[in-house]
Amino acid sequence: MSTIKKIEVEIFNKNPLAQIIVTIETDEGEIGVGEAWWGIPNSKNPGSTSIPIASVIDNLITPHLIGKDNSTIEKHWFDILEYGYRYGDQGIFSMGLSGVDLALWDLLGKQLEVPVVELLGGAIHESLPAYASLPPLRDPDLVVNEVQRAIDSGFSAVKLHEIDPMYIDLLHNSFGESLEIMVDVNGHFSLLEAVAFGEKISNRNIVWYEEPVRPMRDHKAIKKVAMQTGLPIAAGENEYTLNDFKQILESESLTYLQPEITKIGGLTSAKKITSLIEVYNIALCPHNFRSGPSLNASLHWAFSSSNSKWIEIPWIQGEFSGSYDLPPLSKGKVFLPKGNGLGL
Ligand SMILES: [Mg+2]
Repeated sequence: MSTIKKIEVEIFNKNPLAQIIVTIETDEGEIGVGEAWWGIPNSKNPGSTSIPIASVIDNLITPHLIGKDNSTIEKHWFDILEYGYRYGDQGIFSMGLSGVDLALWDLLGKQLEVPVVELLGGAIHESLPAYASLPPLRDPDLVVNEVQRAIDSGFSAVKLHEIDPMYIDLLHNSFGESLEIMVDVNGHFSLLEAVAFGEKISNRNIVWYEEPVRPMRDHKAIKKVAMQTGLPIAAGENEYTLNDFKQILESESLTYLQPEITKIGGLTSAKKITSLIEVYNIALCPHNFRSGPSLNASLHWAFSSSNSKWIEIPWIQGEFSGSYDLPPLSKGKVFLPKGNGLGL
């Protein structure tokens, strides 16, 4: 048994896409690394939007864990949630909990000398389909260049964060109909606009229409978009608790569910959501937009879940905030990174 000696939170802010990395160290010198949700991008003051989440870890969660046995992850998860309940069980408290939880799983895997997927019951899949997820670019030449770069790297599916239907035609004309395209508008539209946009793209053979309407958690509005456009809908990256996921699944508005492991409360929460995914028989497509602990944790989760369908690989030009490599990719498929813990 080891006890938790130190928890450090670092905000990497080399570019607007900051990253919150959590490191847990035991009295034996063992290290676990996790990641909390990163905050809204801020090019004027990179990393500043991460500070409130880092503060949750530093000031609320860390004092609660120092001196405790690191291996009882489930117990820590319940204790921290119960302790912080009056801050709410969603939002930045849950983001902070996620970062610490992922570090605890990485640490335990390393101590036991097994990959986290084995702690979750072992891998069900040898590989999973992956798509390159482009950031919002709003520039046709740049979009074509980035999609070309993704195809050259072996992808056959890409996700656009554009709000003009012409980008779909542009990609089909440039790369052919076999390129699979997801369209994510991050809740950009009102209900009427979301339906109108969906109708325009409904005959364009896209894989899914993601977070079509604002507010992004208006499940009834999402269902109206699904019914009126006939498009498969993806969402869930802004849901938090097990009950949130039960509600969005009960709304019968989605074809693809996208929990974000740095928001939901980490892998401890993810394994509970796996059971709901089986009950509601929906495709699991973990949301992710960083390389590093969050992506690797999403992979270990998805590889141990029966209903996993698509893996999101962030496709950003230039250097990421952290210095983590992308997982092994080949012919549009992603493989689990090797190594103990999260395999970082
Ligand atoms: Mg999204």
